[in-house]
Amino acid sequence: MTQSGHPEAGAAPRVAVTSLGCKVNFAEMSELAGTLAAAGWDVVAEQDHADVRILNSCTVTMQADATTRKHLRRLRRADPGALLVLTGCSVDGNPDQFSRDASRRHGVDAVYPNLRKHEIADDLLRWVGAREAAPDTGEDRSALRSRAFIKVQDGCNHRCTYCIVWQARGVARSRGPASVSDAVARAIELGHGEVTLCGVDLGSYGRDLGTDLATLLGGLLEQCSDSARIRLSSINANDVTPAVIELNAHPRLCAHWHLPLQSGSDPVLRRMHRGYRRAQYLHVVRQLRERNPLTEITTDVMVGFPGETDADHEQTLSLIDEVGFHSCHVFRWSPRPGTPATEYADPVDAATSRRRSAEVRRAALRAGDASRQRAVGRAHEVVWERPASTGARGLSSTYHEIEVPGASPPPGSLGHVFVTAVAGDHLEGTLIP
Ligand code: SF4
Repeated sequence: MTQSGHPEAGAAPRVAVTSLGCKVNFAEMSELAGTLAAAGWDVVAEQDHADVRILNSCTVTMQADATTRKHLRRLRRADPGALLVLTGCSVDGNPDQFSRDASRRHGVDAVYPNLRKHEIADDLLRWVGAREAAPDTGEDRSALRSRAFIKVQDGCNHRCTYCIVWQARGVARSRGPASVSDAVARAIELGHGEVTLCGVDLGSYGRDLGTDLATLLGGLLEQCSDSARIRLSSINANDVTPAVIELNAHPRLCAHWHLPLQSGSDPVLRRMHRGYRRAQYLHVVRQLRERNPLTEITTDVMVGFPGETDADHEQTLSLIDEVGFHSCHVFRWSPRPGTPATEYADPVDAATSRRRSAEVRRAALRAGDASRQRAVGRAHEVVWERPASTGARGLSSTYHEIEVPGASPPPGSLGHVFVTAVAGDHLEGTLIP
């Protein structure tokens, strides 16, 4: 590589992409990597040397912006001569810190807000003059993981009072069903046994196009043969319509739903401006399990929101016990400039917030243990991921990590495993031929 970051003459440019935050970010980078790979670029791992480095950032909390800065420093240190590109929600959510000029301090060469993210690939191809470079080998170099992540929706029309993401991502807009269907077909053709549909507000899919998520999902499930399946990344409980619930009985839909909870208390949900209440959330969980009793639920919980009382907190703990979550992502509320909640009275003191966070984590761990225990003694369909040191690792339809000692199936394919035991945070089993 030359000092300017340009690859040596004749060599395929090497690009490393790093995604922080949500699966939407990950899906966007998978797509970008796929475009560059098809133009002859080498998509390399983050720890390898690269000519171009792209960071897709997250701004969901103040901590996330700090993580963006930390990553920029690390990426710059890893490859002092590389072209460093910054994009994502930190750019839109925190323009003071991540404007083009401000980003130069972190060694960034180019900055793209979310709405211009789609220009990155073309700009890079022009920059390196690589459109006619190495021919596409047909080999799947677009895969950042054995599972495919496809963005079907962007933006959000909700106004949750703690959230900056809707400001960073703009209004809700959906990708056309034909384009989604083509992307899913391509992912399956490339050997991805599992496709995750991602969106900032996935449940709003299609409202701008006169269709809806159930219609899209129903069509995609019919498109899947036995060698592929579909997972939804995250959906708000108020968007889980009866037609969507009905699809939970479909054998090609993963029996795993990520339903962000945030709080089990109605007064807190109201102040957060969430679109559902406790009873509705529990009703949706019950209905999903009626269609498929093996359904597992994962969630996000926010503790210490302004005005949260001990009684509110108890409501969250009791809901965690009642649902029996597979896993919970727990985080403490912190003021986020630009969001209404920052102005709310009645803040929860740091010690109380820490204690509540620890209690929620303990409840979540108990629920997670129980979830793994109920997965033992039956067959699971898994998508094979990276090989583990001792064998193969797969992800079940129910989102359990399962290890099979001594096995080495091709990553991305589907297989069947009989689960025999819990082994720490994962499961162990034997291959079903
Ligand atoms: S639903 Fe709420 S939390 Fe999620 S992106 Fe929209 S505003 Fe933010």
